[in-house]
Amino acid sequence: MAFSTKFIFVTGGVVSSLGKGLASAAIGALLESRGLTITLQKLDPYINVDPGTMNPFQHGEVFVTDDGAETDLDLGHYERFTHAKLGRNNNFTTGKIYDSVITKERRGDYLGGTVQVIPHITDEIKKSILLVAKGVDVVIVEVGGTIGDIESLPFQEAIRQFKSDVGKENVLYVHLTLVPYIAAAGEVKTKPTQHSVKELRSIGIQPDIFLCRTDRFLSKEIKAKIGLFCNVDLDQVITAKDVETIYEVPLVFHQEHLDDKIVELLNIWTRAPKLDEWERIVEKVKNPGFSVNIAIVGKYIHLRESYKSLNEALCHGGIANDCKVNLDFVDSETIDESSCHQRLEAADGILVPGGFGARGIEGKMNAIAFARKEKIPFFGICLGMQVGVVEYARNVAGMEWAHSAEFDEATPFPVIYLMREWFDYKSQRVQKRDTTSDKGGTMRLGAYPCVLKKDSLSYRAYGKKEISERHRHRYEFNNAFKEKLEQAGLIMSGTSPDGHLVEIVEIADHPWFLGCQFHPEFKSRPMNPHPLFVSFIAAALAYKNKRAAG
Ligand code: GLN
Repeated sequence: MAFSTKFIFVTGGVVSSLGKGLASAAIGALLESRGLTITLQKLDPYINVDPGTMNPFQHGEVFVTDDGAETDLDLGHYERFTHAKLGRNNNFTTGKIYDSVITKERRGDYLGGTVQVIPHITDEIKKSILLVAKGVDVVIVEVGGTIGDIESLPFQEAIRQFKSDVGKENVLYVHLTLVPYIAAAGEVKTKPTQHSVKELRSIGIQPDIFLCRTDRFLSKEIKAKIGLFCNVDLDQVITAKDVETIYEVPLVFHQEHLDDKIVELLNIWTRAPKLDEWERIVEKVKNPGFSVNIAIVGKYIHLRESYKSLNEALCHGGIANDCKVNLDFVDSETIDESSCHQRLEAADGILVPGGFGARGIEGKMNAIAFARKEKIPFFGICLGMQVGVVEYARNVAGMEWAHSAEFDEATPFPVIYLMREWFDYKSQRVQKRDTTSDKGGTMRLGAYPCVLKKDSLSYRAYGKKEISERHRHRYEFNNAFKEKLEQAGLIMSGTSPDGHLVEIVEIADHPWFLGCQFHPEFKSRPMNPHPLFVSFIAAALAYKNKRAAG
């Protein structure tokens, strides 16, 4: 088989959290800026079939793609940095690979053979990589975990074999490593990199390019030393310097000639890179004209990774308004009616993000009531919208004890509930679910169409009538209470095309109060900021100015 597609494998050494996902995304951005078409894939060594059921405290955000896959948060970086269209084939875990091998084994596909890691698991991994290779110039595959981990070995073996399968001229190995500065010695240290490469070589992989994560630009001497020990030329050693904003990563890599080296080694002819848009974004992030404070009232505030896409979308909304967005993470469990005012006083906008479970719900409700009454811009996302509806039902529409059935099954007013049957636009079938449904597979997931009401805040923000947004939730707005809530002033400004699923709610006598059942943060890009975030930050800025004017 002849291959025209090129493959770049990105591995990581020494320690985790060096930013392999961002590095892979930045490589994608640079190659796109040279006119190449690319895609990205993440291989995750853990046994979970997907991150959908993993705790955000442990694993960070679950990123959702248009096709409804629950994926690793690195796919969020890939989508924000590039134009790659990602879906379920762009993220494979050990669990997913074994799942399909075991299914085949049970079906008898291996004809009685002994099923082993090599070749059966490694073959399945290689097949999964090829699934995304169609129609693109370059596939960038990020291998999760750190070299030396037991659990990532089958993936490493598979990418080693891959080179002889597709031809050595089509494969490049990039290794991200740590080059720490040791203050006591007054110098950077290359030993951890040497050890990490020794590990890689012992499994048969010689990296072609080293990305050295460090706090300063590496001198020629240091690069030469790494080159000597690790068997590459000096210009194959790239400084991956710490940056002020993640959107600077492609620029720093380019300054170090990473993209030149990649196209040279892979023997690809491209145009010169066009990076002016990246420069504009970085300039805007670094030198904003204004600033606003946004309070994020949620449960997972101790691990910022849990709200990755949300933080980025707020930053994008800021870029569009020439505005720095200061994020104040507020633990919803600490907000009661009396502390609300003091804790949220400095906020120019209040946002309640998505979430699962009852913890901190009353605090979120207090924060929403505060935003509603004080006319502070409020943005409720998924759970944030649902709690907003509950708050409105209780405190404005007179439905005492109203709640979401997720938290109180016996409530007399289940304004948010588990819809037993609904028409699914994606499968074009009626879907059913109940309280006994499987946790891994009963959510409304991925892109769904939504129609906006003319003259609504949403319509003004989007500037069009039909939109598509990504979902990840079980519970829905209960139409039995629609009329009563409408009479009390709640506007259902976005619904599914058949009008059955309420997707956006607003209130009229408020400068900016909007809750959406979907997650708009997944579709925001630095160069194409999401309209709701642009509009929310503009409202926060207006609120701040109005307050300053007294
Ligand atoms: N827990 C709510 C539901 O399942 C909201 C989920 C979310 O915010 N993503 O419907």
